[in-house]
Amino acid sequence: VATQRTSRRKTALRGGIDLGGTKIQAVVLDEGNHVLGESRRPTPREGGPEAVAAALADTLADAAGGAGIDPGTLAGVGVGSPGEIDAKKGTVAQARNLTDWIDPFPLVARLKDSVGVPAHVGNDVTLATNAEFELGVGRDTESLLGVFWGTGVGGGLVLDGKLWSGRGAAGEIGHMVVKMNGRRCPCGRQGCMEAYAGRGAMEARARKLHDEGRKTDLFKIMEKRGRERLTSGVWSRALEAGDKLAIEIVDEAVDALGNGIASAVNLLDVEAVVIGGGLGVRLGEPYAKRIAEAMQPHLFVDDRPPVVEVAALGDLGGAIGAALLVR
Ligand SMILES: [Zn+2]
Repeated sequence: VATQRTSRRKTALRGGIDLGGTKIQAVVLDEGNHVLGESRRPTPREGGPEAVAAALADTLADAAGGAGIDPGTLAGVGVGSPGEIDAKKGTVAQARNLTDWIDPFPLVARLKDSVGVPAHVGNDVTLATNAEFELGVGRDTESLLGVFWGTGVGGGLVLDGKLWSGRGAAGEIGHMVVKMNGRRCPCGRQGCMEAYAGRGAMEARARKLHDEGRKTDLFKIMEKRGRERLTSGVWSRALEAGDKLAIEIVDEAVDALGNGIASAVNLLDVEAVVIGGGLGVRLGEPYAKRIAEAMQPHLFVDDRPPVVEVAALGDLGGAIGAALLVR
């Protein structure tokens, strides 16, 4: 009994979990914010929020195992989630990209019960932006725009050293209009940046053009890799192979990102822009540079552009930002 009690003694270590539409990523951080353990699992597609909550706890347990500790000894755990977050109530509702998650679900209470430590929840993109502000690209700045280039295009904003959430919905950079009466966006509106740059919209575009007879190896690469979607890895491979259609669609995405981000910079004059998300991190520095170049013609003050860099925390930023919720 004595040893068990000792081994469950609370530590200063914190757990963080990023809940994504395709994967769950967990980390354990020490006091200096170093990653001691990490783990990832696919997000359950069946069983609704209960199944997802169980998978979150399991992924955290794996990360804690990697750090050589019992998850019950963590000082706490934070979760970055999509959807409508009520941080005070600890609930998540309307989680896009997750199955059967409409009504508010008490995620914080469920995790607290299963892991046995205090739990917190926040918006995934906001937490990832905050992690880059505190520990990554923005650590020496007072203002930062986070652009998360993935299935959609999410955004987060730090102004005057503080996260800016507006009335709760700020940072939706993916829905900046880059073309009047332009292409239909997955959100239902027209001409949004995401209609050209979101991986979901890019895939729909590739399928349409392929069906119309354009040649591309995108779908062959997808099948070869055993995927059902054009993942970031599939796009990256097709670009390396010089696939013309892939190049054309990605070029269009880069242009849209350049337009939209430059417009945001004209409004806000932030010091730095961090490019994260699945595609952003996968395509890396050369594409961050290309986005910066695509911004240039649209910058009103063009002799001192902001720093544009790939997320320094890579795809761990969401989980690390979630761990930072534990203070
Ligand atoms: Zn839109």
